[in-house]
Amino acid sequence: MKDRPRITSIEVVQYEKNVIDVGVESTIGILIYQPGGVQKFRGRGLRIHTDLGVTGEYFGGFEADYAVIGGLAHTLIGRNALERDAIYDDLKQATRQQSRMGMGVVDIALWDLAGKYYDAPIYELLGGSAGKKLPCYASTYVGDYEEGGLNSPEAYADFAEACLEAGYPGFKIHGWQDAPLKDQIELVRAVGRRVGDRMDLMLDPFCAIKTFGDALKLGRACDEFDYFWYEDPFRDGGVSAFAHRKLRQLIKTPLLQLEHLRGLEPHVDFIVADGTDFVRIDTDYDGGITGVMKIAHAAEGFGLDVELHGPGPDRRHVMAAIRNTNYYEMGLLHPQLGPFHMAPFKCGYRDAIDAVDADGCVVAPDGPGLGVEYDWDTIMDHCTDRAEYK
Ligand SMILES: [Mg+2]
Repeated sequence: MKDRPRITSIEVVQYEKNVIDVGVESTIGILIYQPGGVQKFRGRGLRIHTDLGVTGEYFGGFEADYAVIGGLAHTLIGRNALERDAIYDDLKQATRQQSRMGMGVVDIALWDLAGKYYDAPIYELLGGSAGKKLPCYASTYVGDYEEGGLNSPEAYADFAEACLEAGYPGFKIHGWQDAPLKDQIELVRAVGRRVGDRMDLMLDPFCAIKTFGDALKLGRACDEFDYFWYEDPFRDGGVSAFAHRKLRQLIKTPLLQLEHLRGLEPHVDFIVADGTDFVRIDTDYDGGITGVMKIAHAAEGFGLDVELHGPGPDRRHVMAAIRNTNYYEMGLLHPQLGPFHMAPFKCGYRDAIDAVDADGCVVAPDGPGLGVEYDWDTIMDHCTDRAEYK
């Protein structure tokens, strides 16, 4: 029997780089296309070190995830790093008053560590299939008002057609934060008219619609073109099971909810309350790979599909090991901008509009753990904050 690795320290790193042609949308601070704009992008990651020298790494999550990690160190130091389920359970208890921040990024790094310890990719540890093709939908930036941008319903329709030609079987609209409802409805119709009979279409207003009534009218526009799903329509913030059950009774387009409720138990409660058709899961938000696999299996028991939020190597591994799922979210994409990665990769891993094969699919990386190599030279050259907890 091999020795088990014990956690000796946790290292947290922040680095900064400038991103160009990007601005910040004024009401909610979301990144938006702005020619000539320069924004500071901060990437954050962690490394979990052990007494056997095997290390787990992950870049992702939010600033708030890293703010709590120092406080979690005493739960982690000295533990067998392979006991992910017991650690998940203790971190869930330890972070119960902090919305379970931090536990997702720790868990993903522990899965990377386990993969390196066993010399196997994460999808294989999860029982997934090598080389499994993961169909992608092109997921847009939010709308803008710039020339050459996503500045009109027709501009979105042009971009959807370009994504179709690039091989994508699906296209998801993130519309405008503050456009009049008639423009949001025309956007749904313009994309539906152009490509609706050739791609699966999704609409994600990212909770921007102000009233239930307007969300209902927008949902009825989705019905006209058989949208595949309608996600987080309005300003309840995507958390009211009651409101979404009512909405489901009034439109025929399936809803996709649960990006904004964290973890297994709230997901199951929302499903039981009839609040959604598709079940959103996110490795960062929902307790890591351990957490999303629990939700995927719970949803399987209800006969429902889970859909992973956002791209990344960890998402690919998870998707390769889940039967009841449809799409990988490639994004955010835009006619003029690509996605921003949380960290630079040395190994050629990328999520981008042209990172898909002719069928619009990607596969999980095949190396041990996450199967990617982070570019630590670049990260440390641009490091703005670093802490090590022992
Ligand atoms: Mg969303």
